[in-house]
Amino acid sequence: MNSKVFVNRTLNLKRIKYIGLDMDHTLIRYHAEEFEKLSHTVMKEKLIQNRNYPEQIRKFNFDYELAIRGLVIDRKKGNILKLNRHSAIRLSFQGLNALDFKTQQKIYHSTYIDLGTPDYMAIDTSFSISLANLFMQLVDLKIKNPTLQLPDFSVIADDVLEALDEGHRDGTLKDTVKKDLKTYIIKEPELVAQLEKYKLHGKKIFIATNSDFYYTKLLLDYAINPFLKNHKDWSELFEFVITSAQKPRFFTDELRFLKVNPQNGTMTNYFEKLKPGVYQGGSATTFTKDLGLQADEILYIGDHIYGDILRLKKDCGWRTAMVIEELEKEIAQNKKAQPINNEIDDLMRKKEPFEDQLTTLMTNRIENEHSVAENVIEELQKQINEVDSQISMLIKKQVGLFNQHWGQLMRAGNEESYFAYQVDRYACVYMAKLADLFALSPRTYFRAPRKPLSHELVD
Ligand SMILES: [Mg+2]
Repeated sequence: MNSKVFVNRTLNLKRIKYIGLDMDHTLIRYHAEEFEKLSHTVMKEKLIQNRNYPEQIRKFNFDYELAIRGLVIDRKKGNILKLNRHSAIRLSFQGLNALDFKTQQKIYHSTYIDLGTPDYMAIDTSFSISLANLFMQLVDLKIKNPTLQLPDFSVIADDVLEALDEGHRDGTLKDTVKKDLKTYIIKEPELVAQLEKYKLHGKKIFIATNSDFYYTKLLLDYAINPFLKNHKDWSELFEFVITSAQKPRFFTDELRFLKVNPQNGTMTNYFEKLKPGVYQGGSATTFTKDLGLQADEILYIGDHIYGDILRLKKDCGWRTAMVIEELEKEIAQNKKAQPINNEIDDLMRKKEPFEDQLTTLMTNRIENEHSVAENVIEELQKQINEVDSQISMLIKKQVGLFNQHWGQLMRAGNEESYFAYQVDRYACVYMAKLADLFALSPRTYFRAPRKPLSHELVD
């Protein structure tokens, strides 16, 4: 069967006893573009109202194509970067303009950047596209209008991030969603049926979300309850619902669980061993211990590389699965790109003998003092250049199939993107949506493909 679940590390679902789900963008899918647009609007308003940004930024349009996930902000220089797996810069923008390779080289003497320094900010929030979008627009405005005296780039970066946090904290974002669930939330009846099927196989399913109880209840009432067949309410389907979980701290610290009364949302202290129910806070350590589980008997599925996956894998030992909603489109476009990639490979092979000849000639000239006619060298060089220009045209065509500014999500040129590297390193399996996993049997054995190292590719 053609599985839509992709495997980085072998995972035997038979061994998994508990499956944990993040809620927002994992169990409950949003109409991403609408939601990013909303967050763009909320951030603009917060900047105008709380941080004295000029009224004219209200006119900034949201452009869903302007950024992709996994980009990095250079706080000092105001640039946005796309990195490959070695943290080398592969593409860069200043404001709304792409930096050409020469300019980029001038600015960054080394292409490798140190993500550990505070100068760089990886945009791995759930709203990375709107955040990058607004940052690029503000940088552009600052550069073009020095008289506006906008703050330094690093302050703009902090302000935008803070505005987003405020929008989350004070409920502005969620209040808008609450009022118009239809615009923002996707209903998936098939997924609910699949979850019930998993329960039939004895799998325990739980939710661990950073959203508070009331918002969680609202979404579950809306997107889960209407489609339940074997259960009356989501609180029966899910063994545990852990709200306001404070991930990633949930995976690293030992915060206390509070018991939530699902009837009215009131909370009480809880000191006993965990029993099925609705909670707030808590920790993965207590969860694993109280239920008498081994860490690798729990699979946690989320969409946020830092909050859901990376810290968990580093500190907690649960197995991980990541939802990457862009994947569906990326795979479709990869298929379209295949014939172009083949043409590029053919041209590369065509170029090789010319390059070999040139190398031999030049080596002979130096080592054996052979005289080589200049026109022979020129002719070879000309042929190489011709092939190169054909290749670069094809590369443009290939990139054009993906995001027009940033290309593929999972690749940076020939290499993996930094985002893909993190997925590869921390997610045991990954897929475009939760239903791709739950469509498979709860007894599936996911086998990791053998990935050849360079030296193993020798004929
Ligand atoms: Mg999420």
